Amino acid sequence: MFRICHLRFEISSPIYAFSQSVIIPPMETSVEKTPALPRVYELSREQLAAWCVEQGGPAYRADQIRRWIFGKRVNSFDDMHDLPAALRARLTEQFSLFPAVETAHRVAKDRTEKLLLELTDGELVECVLMRETDRRTICISTQVGCGMGCVFCASGLRGLKRNLTTGEILEQILRLDRLLPREEAITNVVVMGIGEPLANLKNLVPALDSLNDKGGLGLGARRITVSTVGLPEKIRELAKLGKAYNLAVSLHAPTEELRTRLVPVNKNIGIEAVLQAADDFFEITGRRVTYEYVLLSGVNDSPEHARLLALLLQSRIAHVNLIPMNGVTELEFVEPTAPRTQEFVRMLEQYGVPATVRKRKGADIDAACGQLRLHQLPPATGMDAISGKELLPVTTSP
Ligand code: SAH
Repeated sequence: MFRICHLRFEISSPIYAFSQSVIIPPMETSVEKTPALPRVYELSREQLAAWCVEQGGPAYRADQIRRWIFGKRVNSFDDMHDLPAALRARLTEQFSLFPAVETAHRVAKDRTEKLLLELTDGELVECVLMRETDRRTICISTQVGCGMGCVFCASGLRGLKRNLTTGEILEQILRLDRLLPREEAITNVVVMGIGEPLANLKNLVPALDSLNDKGGLGLGARRITVSTVGLPEKIRELAKLGKAYNLAVSLHAPTEELRTRLVPVNKNIGIEAVLQAADDFFEITGRRVTYEYVLLSGVNDSPEHARLLALLLQSRIAHVNLIPMNGVTELEFVEPTAPRTQEFVRMLEQYGVPATVRKRKGADIDAACGQLRLHQLPPATGMDAISGKELLPVTTSP
């Protein structure tokens, strides 16, 4: 039931195979003559100030540089008009701004936009901009691929390649921000793209800190949600940072047996340890935890599953975010019907557990986690990332 059922990797210009979505020419970037140079925002505000002092200038130049990048959306050091020419030249020599190459830029009918970026080592990463009346939410990735192996998720189908650097995480944010008109700004960040954010906390935290440091985007921790498969010690580490980040825990099943089938890392962790860590997060931060639950038709969506889930969460200050399965070409899972989903919500509410069903965004542009990247990769090398078994050319579901 949980195996990969198609192996249709569309490697011949897949970007242009979607008639509904709009293809936009890649953004022009002007200073990347040497792509291997570090991104200037890989440096924290303090590190950049120290660099400015080393160049013989005042430390406050760092805030000027950051304002140009974060606030004024410039794409070249030459456009930073209030910096001395010599400093601009040193910046150009030593740093890059946007070295990733925009491999695809899709715009869905609901105006959700998705970027596929090719990093300087050729790896691919995706990020998304979603529009709602009063919100501009972006979804960013933290790793190339994912090592968690959740069986319904496209991100982990080819395993984990590497962590993203702080600069690579920030480049996604800055490039999505540049898709917005001048009068609009990012209002929320969800760390729910490719990868397990808590497995790359060391690079993620400085990136998120940078958003709120002087000269940054002014996005406070309350506007940022970090989603995790549920790594207990890392959840506690996040809580102890002293920042008001929101935590979302991907539960996806109310019993050990089912959760281990859907979220294989559960085998060595267990639901109780995840819930205990989430309770500690609430205790330390005072922030209500969200539990994500992907609805897979015929797998975890029965009224009994809802009842068991409610029993787990009833005594906690929690909110359930139900995510109807976002179809992944290579996987056979499908979302339940609307009445079945409503029944699930009703059952949770009957037990006093608040729940919402996540609205689908960008359905016509491969917006499911990791799908766009997956479709750009060369064909699988013969091993199933989940089972480690030889891949067979199966084309239909059993
Ligand atoms: N590694 C993090 C972030 C994953 S993406 C985590 O596990 O939370 C954010 C959410 O989308 C997670 O709950 C993830 O399980 C879910 N998700 C992944 N693929 C999905 C799909 N095809 N349909 C619906 N939800 C999916």
